[in-house]
Amino acid sequence: MDPSQGGGDLIGFGGGQGPILFGGGTLTGAINRLKTFSTKNINCIKDLMAVGLTSSQIQLDANTVSMVNALAKPGALRAMEPNADFAIVETEMVPTIAYNSNNFWQTSFGDLLGTLVHEYAHLANPGSSSGTDQGLIGALGITGATNSSAISQKLGKDCFSGAKP
Ligand SMILES: [Zn+2]
Repeated sequence: MDPSQGGGDLIGFGGGQGPILFGGGTLTGAINRLKTFSTKNINCIKDLMAVGLTSSQIQLDANTVSMVNALAKPGALRAMEPNADFAIVETEMVPTIAYNSNNFWQTSFGDLLGTLVHEYAHLANPGSSSGTDQGLIGALGITGATNSSAISQKLGKDCFSGAKP
């Protein structure tokens, strides 16, 4: 569901063991940040409206979505596209996001926060064409996107520019 460039400017990854570093931040740290998310940035507010998200929904997702390390769960890994960084696991009873840290491309904490909001946008539009990567790219008015990381990058830039862990 979430093809994006693998490799690239990787700062660090944990492979399921150590901390996952993005400009000094961790995946857990990013989720914790979103548990209290709010914004007054008009570009961010426009983006969230376009993809059907609110600040309170982001907080709820950060508090409740089950995060699965695909490198430790072969079934989840098989369900992901080979080059995906994060993907919704649609077969789970509770909202679930799998991640493969071997494919993390994010080089900043803002990129990572934007990526999580990108995944939450998928959860906010279940079973709808507006919830596909192409749907989100269109809703956000992104032109020239070559893969779905453009969604994460736009949300990161508009909502989390300069965010520090
Ligand atoms: Zn996506």
